[in-house]
Amino acid sequence: MTQTSPIAVICPGCGTEVAGALLTCPACHRLVHADELTRLASEGKSNKEIAFELGLSPKTVEVHRSRLMERLQVRDLSGLTRYAIRIGLIQP
Ligand SMILES: [Zn+2]
Repeated sequence: MTQTSPIAVICPGCGTEVAGALLTCPACHRLVHADELTRLASEGKSNKEIAFELGLSPKTVEVHRSRLMERLQVRDLSGLTRYAIRIGLIQP
């Protein structure tokens, strides 16, 4: 497996298999990488490190991350971290 062949993920909302390069589930529009991405980003990982862990390209992660932050209405890493703590993804 290389960074340029995204892995498919199962949508936690409806169980549809979603291509790794997609941010949202085509069936229910849920953000499929949101939890992993939020956790990794709030741990201070770079886009490149996150890309490696999720099997995505750094460019894809960059797009996912900015859309995720837009969706969560946070502007920076500390906002993202507060969100991650609030939903229990990471410990404060
Ligand atoms: Zn879905």
